[in-house]
Amino acid sequence: MRVRFAPSPTGALHIGGARTALYNWLMARGQGGTFVLRIEDTDRERSTPANVEQILDALRWLELDFDEGPISQVERAPRHQEVLQDLLDRGLAYRSSATAADVKAFKAEHGADRGFRGEAEAEGAVRLRVPDDAELVVHDVIRGDTTFHSRHLDDPVIARADDTALYNFAVAVDDHDAQITHVVRGEDHLSNTPKQLVVYQAMGAEPPVFAHLPLLHGPDGKKLSKRHGAASVQELRDAGFLPEAVRNYLALLGWGDPDDETLISTDELVERFDITRVQKNPARFDEQKLRWMNGRYVRALPLDELTERLEAHTGRTGLRAAVEISAEKIQTLEDFWPLAGFLFDGPSDDPKAREKWLADGGKEALAAAREALSGADPFDVEHVERALRGVVEARGAKPKDVFQPVRVALAGTTISPGIFESAAVLGRDETLRRIDAALS
Ligand code: GLU
Repeated sequence: MRVRFAPSPTGALHIGGARTALYNWLMARGQGGTFVLRIEDTDRERSTPANVEQILDALRWLELDFDEGPISQVERAPRHQEVLQDLLDRGLAYRSSATAADVKAFKAEHGADRGFRGEAEAEGAVRLRVPDDAELVVHDVIRGDTTFHSRHLDDPVIARADDTALYNFAVAVDDHDAQITHVVRGEDHLSNTPKQLVVYQAMGAEPPVFAHLPLLHGPDGKKLSKRHGAASVQELRDAGFLPEAVRNYLALLGWGDPDDETLISTDELVERFDITRVQKNPARFDEQKLRWMNGRYVRALPLDELTERLEAHTGRTGLRAAVEISAEKIQTLEDFWPLAGFLFDGPSDDPKAREKWLADGGKEALAAAREALSGADPFDVEHVERALRGVVEARGAKPKDVFQPVRVALAGTTISPGIFESAAVLGRDETLRRIDAALS
């Protein structure tokens, strides 16, 4: 089995593209196949080296390694021209200066494109001669066989007047040369496939098996877009998702059961993935579900490993103790700093929290807490807890009437890891210093 991922470097790698890459990779890894990366950079205006880098980066982050490539489609231009010349020589393609508008006008008059060929010209774009009466069968392991009749196809333009190849031609030549056995790609390409079959026919080549993946929709059933949250792999990374969680979630989208609550390791995905079981209906990408799944992965990581990832993500060091007391409360790496950053950068500024918890009664409770905490020895979670519970009891207060003022004094806000744990991580001096600041 030889599969390929063939992104156009016209922008970031989107979540749909990432899923396509993943499914190809899972197939190759599951069946001892070869995974080829081809960069389809023939759109000269929109393809940039920066975009190529971005795509390679995204694949690296997702840990989807390829066996061959990246192959630049543009660099294969001589080969495209060779095949083009062969098709021209054999009369299977012809040059025409007819514009899309000319073809349209002809169709309006004659009801079809059939017969619009005019005289072969010496110059002009190259069009492929679609046979008049042929059945074109797309073998698709997800959708079954679909038969197109050639009479419904226009002669596609396969190269510009300067002989540079266009997508439907280049893709077939390249897939053929790379001996690709399975073309797995988004359903948006389904309408291109019959044209590509004509190219295969003209080359006298056997077409690959196809698998057109259903589109990704948002939870509202509309086509996935920025509106639904992160749209590209880079955005997922910046939002603090873990690549293994993204792989797990994307693999389930449209293949397994997206409501499945069990985590499936990548090794197991490789073993179990079956392209023929991908559903035909659009899959729904739900960032909330991904968040939930990511949280499960975060908590499954050993503390040292999670610390390492959080240090890489935040660009800070010395986070271990803070990570230890926060892990239960975060779903993504990005959740960590808003929760625990106060341990390093001082209390945040939440005037509402101060107003509510550091008013007169709150200050009294806080002063009592200070007194009790100054005697906690050693200043660890157990002794901090004992000291603060003692204050609750002595004042006949509700726990939150003591704990929240302390929390706001330490964190500046009411969102933090456990308050005893936070105090213990800050240590006695810093804890008392922050309480004093809040009291003054
Ligand atoms: N370059 C095409 C795209 O990025 C994909 C072509 C293919 O997979 O056949 O949409």
